[in-house]
Amino acid sequence: MAYSPLTEQLMEALQVLPGVGSRSAERMTLHLLERDREGGQMLSQALQRALDGVMHCARCRVLTEQAVCELCQNDDRDHSRLCVVETPQDREAIEVSGGYLGDYFVLQGHLSPIDGIGPDELGVPLLLERVKSGDIEEVILATNASMEGEATAHYLTEQLQPLKVVVSRIARGIPVGSEFGRIDSHSLSQALQDRKPLGFEHD
Ligand code: ZN
Repeated sequence: MAYSPLTEQLMEALQVLPGVGSRSAERMTLHLLERDREGGQMLSQALQRALDGVMHCARCRVLTEQAVCELCQNDDRDHSRLCVVETPQDREAIEVSGGYLGDYFVLQGHLSPIDGIGPDELGVPLLLERVKSGDIEEVILATNASMEGEATAHYLTEQLQPLKVVVSRIARGIPVGSEFGRIDSHSLSQALQDRKPLGFEHD
């Protein structure tokens, strides 16, 4: 069955979305054109406005309508510390935890040569430039504890070490309130490896 040329074009365009194949695109197209043209207008306008107005923050790479995002502009933050995360969601999770008041750098992914994602795609040159500018004393690598996250952290450590900056990796391990029996053995062994000495204060 053939659809009209513009209908076909819309079906094809929708397939740029991740996880949307020809069947889903067909369903979405027919829904918009047959059942919800108002919704379609809203979608089309929101998409165009976002494409025109949203860019990457020049300092942390998060999506923003400003050249530099609000968090990076906030002078109550400790701009000498930079926490490197994979995604804006990771940044949000750390923010919600309330335990960190420094700046962030969002890679928007991790190293994945198979998918063509290398240092340039992750903004590594911008990160190194920012560290070289001299205001940063510590870079905290908070990439995921997955294999790709570890590989990315390892690569960044190699790049950052010559720059006379403290490079640290977040400790991983046992979630607060959990029992040993319920933790996977990898997390448990990481927790043991990343142990910290308990400081007894002697006056
Ligand atoms: Zn920013």
